[in-house]
Amino acid sequence: MAYSYEAPVSQSLFDRASVVTPGGVNSPVRAFRAVGGTPRFMVSGTGPYLTDADGREYVDLVCSWGPMILGHSHPEVIAAVQEAVSRGTSFGTPGEGEVALAEEIVARIEPVEQVRLVSSGTEATMSAIRLARGFTGRAKVVKFAGCYHGHVDALLAAAGSGLATFGLPDTPGVTGATAGDTVVLPYNDLDAVRAAFAAHPGEIACVITEASPGNMGVVPPAEGFNAGLKELCAADGALFISDEVMTGFRTSKAGWYGIDGVRPDLMTFGKVMGGGFPAAAFGGRADVMAHLAPAGPVYQAGTLSGNPVATAAGLAQLRLLDDAAYAKIDAVSAELRSLVGDAFTKEGVAHTVSSASNMFSVFFTDRPVRNYDDAKKQEAFRFTAFFHSMLEQGVYLPPSAFESWFVSTAHDERAVERIAAALPAAARAASEATA
Ligand code: PLP
Repeated sequence: MAYSYEAPVSQSLFDRASVVTPGGVNSPVRAFRAVGGTPRFMVSGTGPYLTDADGREYVDLVCSWGPMILGHSHPEVIAAVQEAVSRGTSFGTPGEGEVALAEEIVARIEPVEQVRLVSSGTEATMSAIRLARGFTGRAKVVKFAGCYHGHVDALLAAAGSGLATFGLPDTPGVTGATAGDTVVLPYNDLDAVRAAFAAHPGEIACVITEASPGNMGVVPPAEGFNAGLKELCAADGALFISDEVMTGFRTSKAGWYGIDGVRPDLMTFGKVMGGGFPAAAFGGRADVMAHLAPAGPVYQAGTLSGNPVATAAGLAQLRLLDDAAYAKIDAVSAELRSLVGDAFTKEGVAHTVSSASNMFSVFFTDRPVRNYDDAKKQEAFRFTAFFHSMLEQGVYLPPSAFESWFVSTAHDERAVERIAAALPAAARAASEATA
């Protein structure tokens, strides 16, 4: 595909990056491989806008893949960070900020009785699984195809996100022994979970699921799916782990738990709770968390865990996320979903705008999408044309058809108008695209 616009400064930065960094990026989806073209190197962000190295401004519908729920450079978050930085950046000792952040999480999410702070969502899920194995004395982990839980070796089987973008079933470097204890099942299929428990009675340490998946595009759980998982786990003595790294503090004040009320044994968090810094967490039942070092025998640690700057940013962001903030995000999301759907309908493009609370994405199919196989059947080539038309018109979408779009409290009328103005041409480009 030829692009009618250029980004010379981004291109020269990408050329430099490609010499010293594999693929020129520090996280694969950023490389634009699924859509082609030059990845934009961003230099600043304000509210709903990003500015790239060529001086072009974009309405941002990625929001750093979820964390920037108040938009970029929110003055109160920046002030909290500046205040924290002025006192030093890392002490390697306990500090009050991490206690306050843990208290905020425990106060918001009722099933979380205790929480441990870490630095990435990957660390959170990796540690939660180790804890589940340590607590139950069992080895096997059940996960769902299309759910991404970070790049934990045992969880990279049939994962979504970057692996969906690149069509990799799994990755070299994960040994058979590691992956051998992972059972991968189709999402939204309780019968498959029942069959797995019947095939491996007393062997499954945990079932881990995205609370509402956003890494194969947005595919919400069917009515009763999470409750069914919880029930099947409880009947067998396995733990139910709800991965809320993406949904936590985004889909509601209490994340997806605040929406479906299904009580997990363990939960994982990241993204929003770090306010744009590397902070994440896992937590849940106090009797399970008591198995974690130094209270218990399951080892887990981190030099920068609970970092004072990251916790200050996260705490400032969470404290600003009140009911009014969620009402605003939900309203902007609903408006955009309707605009996007109308634009495709007008151009006769088969599509489904799939949403879970304020997270949403577009599948280029009009058949229902309930799992990863369904998601992969879409006409993803249409997304490429759509993406580049939007980019050219100053709207930054996730560079893959298998990712959620994210909005923030900063997405105001002007930002929505700019998106609305770009949609007709982009929908036309999608309709004219060929495989
Ligand atoms: N879990 C889910 C549901 C995610 O969406 C992600 C990242 O996108 C992760 C875990 C991993 O988080 P991180 O990228 O911070 O390691």
